[in-house]
Amino acid sequence: MTLNNQTQNNTGSSTDASGILVSTTDMKTPYYHQINQEVEVFDQAFQNKLPILIKGPTGTGKSRFVEYMANKEGKRLITVSCHEETSSTDLIGRYIIKGAETVWIDGPLTTAMKNGDILYMDEIAEARPDVIVAIHPLTDHRRELFIDKLGETIKAHKDFMLVASFNPGYQKGFKELKPSTRQRFVALSFDYPSPKIEMEILQNESNVDKDIAKKLVAIGNKIRNLTELGLTETVSTRLLVDAAKLIRSGLPKRLSVHVAVAEPLTDEPQTLQTIKDVCDLMI
Ligand code: ADP
Repeated sequence: MTLNNQTQNNTGSSTDASGILVSTTDMKTPYYHQINQEVEVFDQAFQNKLPILIKGPTGTGKSRFVEYMANKEGKRLITVSCHEETSSTDLIGRYIIKGAETVWIDGPLTTAMKNGDILYMDEIAEARPDVIVAIHPLTDHRRELFIDKLGETIKAHKDFMLVASFNPGYQKGFKELKPSTRQRFVALSFDYPSPKIEMEILQNESNVDKDIAKKLVAIGNKIRNLTELGLTETVSTRLLVDAAKLIRSGLPKRLSVHVAVAEPLTDEPQTLQTIKDVCDLMI
């Protein structure tokens, strides 16, 4: 996992072969609607060199917020999507064979620390335990990293910032973050926005008309309140945005909501039918 061999895409970001996303500061500021006072919190944490942990369900704008803030602070953003195989080597770096030579390649964490970038570790609790151990000295006053393969300790650039996300509902009883890790971060809770804000987000993201946005938001809230359905994860803003985009581009309304909202939520036939029925009644 290195930052080499990146391919550019049309958002001013590039992705390497391992799926690490590097966003450059010259990309257009993404649209982000503030929900609480998270922009001020991030600003102050950045000034005070404090790491941030963003907690909340999937699709509630965590990644969009970090992209927006990196852009606002004028910093490059490196995003690592953590999964069960993500190891400290993936983050710190490794030796690779190049022709007849062995060369050291910095991983995304080392790169971000040296350059003063913002490193976003999405779904940090998914990563292997050695990742958590490696980041501990980075998250306190030391702001340093020991690279055992080089026998070197590096100090973070003054602008380096670590941001991590964590989905408490999803990881319940499975992969929890230890209190000793959580207490190293300033933490922000993200949740589904109020109907008024969610409607604005839908309209901004898809250009769908107000009436449709209102109906989609009502569907979202209705399903979120149907706790008896026992869904692992309920309707996110992302799913509603997807439905709005499909409707905006001409797909029939009911079909759009079935494929963008109902189908991604469950495979259980009866629950799926209930959700589709609710959607059909409301749009
Ligand atoms: P997460 O990282 O929490 O899984 P994302 O940041 O990927 O969620 O958000 C999913 C989508 O929802 C975004 O692409 C955007 O369209 C929309 N979205 C959610 N919250 C907001 C917000 N506050 N402002 C703007 N867009 C939002």
